[in-house]
Amino acid sequence: MDNKTIIQYFEWYLPSDGSLWQKVRAQAADLKKTGITSVWLPPAYKGAGGGKSVGYDVYDMYDLGEFDQKGSIRTKYGTMEEYLSAVKALHEEGLEVYADIVFNQMMGADETEKITAVDTHPADREEQISGPHEIEVWTRFTFPGRNGKYSKHTWSKENFSGTDYDQATGDKGIYLFEGKKWNQETDSENVNFDYLMGVDLDTDDPDTYQALLDWGSWYFRTVKPDGLRLDAVKHISFDFYRRWLLEMRQEQGRDFFAVGEYWSGDLGKLLHYLDVVVSGRPEKTLCRTEKAEKSGASADTDDGPAVPESGMPQDGTEPELKEGTPLTLFDVPLHYAFLNAARDSRGFDMGGLFNHTLVKERPECACTFVDNHDTEPGQALESYIPEWFKPIAYSMILLRKDGIPCVFYGDYYGVEHANESPILDLRKLIAIRSRYAYGQQTDYFDHHSIVGFTRSGDAEHKSSGLAVLATSAEEGTKYMIVGGSYAGARFYDALGRHDEPVVLDEKGGGTFHVHGGYVSVWLTEDAYRDIRINF
Ligand code: CA
Repeated sequence: MDNKTIIQYFEWYLPSDGSLWQKVRAQAADLKKTGITSVWLPPAYKGAGGGKSVGYDVYDMYDLGEFDQKGSIRTKYGTMEEYLSAVKALHEEGLEVYADIVFNQMMGADETEKITAVDTHPADREEQISGPHEIEVWTRFTFPGRNGKYSKHTWSKENFSGTDYDQATGDKGIYLFEGKKWNQETDSENVNFDYLMGVDLDTDDPDTYQALLDWGSWYFRTVKPDGLRLDAVKHISFDFYRRWLLEMRQEQGRDFFAVGEYWSGDLGKLLHYLDVVVSGRPEKTLCRTEKAEKSGASADTDDGPAVPESGMPQDGTEPELKEGTPLTLFDVPLHYAFLNAARDSRGFDMGGLFNHTLVKERPECACTFVDNHDTEPGQALESYIPEWFKPIAYSMILLRKDGIPCVFYGDYYGVEHANESPILDLRKLIAIRSRYAYGQQTDYFDHHSIVGFTRSGDAEHKSSGLAVLATSAEEGTKYMIVGGSYAGARFYDALGRHDEPVVLDEKGGGTFHVHGGYVSVWLTEDAYRDIRINF
């Protein structure tokens, strides 16, 4: 089987010229040739920002660039026709298409409604800091421009839990609607991080849940995506995607790929989320404890254990598991490890690069990446990996056996508005992954700054097998064994920083060199020539 590689096919600052669907269509063959197997496209539906919306300010999920709404027929990326045509072109090249699903918030409602709400504390959303009072909120979505085509469903205040703006007074706050509570298991930042922005979808509400299921069915029928990228999962009831993915997969009759964005560098939080969705462990275990501690309550008081609020047996028996469903999460802890390594190059222990990362602890659930549209300079989660380190980081996600890597558009094509060029050697690294990064992996993470690994190659992929040596600091060498079948072979640096080959000894090992602050990737002579000529 060939290695899978995803590309995130957008960055935040693409021009709002409606050209992305045409571009990806035109690039489909080139992506395929490079070794990309799957393309994550940005949210395809109309946002509140109309033709300029990146897509996370969801207005109408049934408007894929077809209706005159929010000042534009097309989205930032093009029309529905262009979108469907791009998906078709990608499918014809044998590439998978992943759709971006944004179920946490909506924006740009057509009308306001009056509602009773309480103010909650910004840093402790479970604490109510006002009595009930009436506010005017943007919760009525009627989509007059679409006029009921595809779905007659409209949204109103019953579908949402809260918002941050009172139209009547212009006041801002974290308002919880009367009769609602925040989704009870979400990320524990701010005690309960259900609310992020806009009007927050109440996924516990049966009508909301059904509407999201109906939309999913329509979307799969209409677009035929091969997988999904799930936005902001830490702000949505943890059990929601277990249920929703299960139902969508049953309906589709297949376990399509899914990757969730749980933005946290805390491995424990990612593992807990996977426990709920993949392993079907009931909610309200880990996070309730944290909430109790944060609010000053002790788990050891005479009031009994703080943990079991619901779903957990009180007598210490194991809770009954629900049916789980496959999911990967982006390996955010690894992203931060890359950032720390790049910022503190000589102080950082490269030997421990993978400690406390998802790809190490739960490799089958890890989607690895270097950067994305949110980590770009100027964005909310700005944590961009410095350019010099990116070839090292990409070697670590593309050439090793674990994790499904996701390459960032801005690294592949450059970031035009910031005048940034494509990352040096990235195309080569993707091609090497696709053609030669196979077989048994042997790790040499045995030095503070100079680390490496080898792949032995396999019978299925001709000339496969490689040696990788990277350093976050000064140049150096390391003896590494590729495998006995390569005894006497000559290995060449595919990134072209070394002219002389390394001749492997009788064990198939050799002493490889790397220049300071870079990476060397050593391939067989045939593989080396292929990469040098074609990429
Ligand atoms: Ca939410």
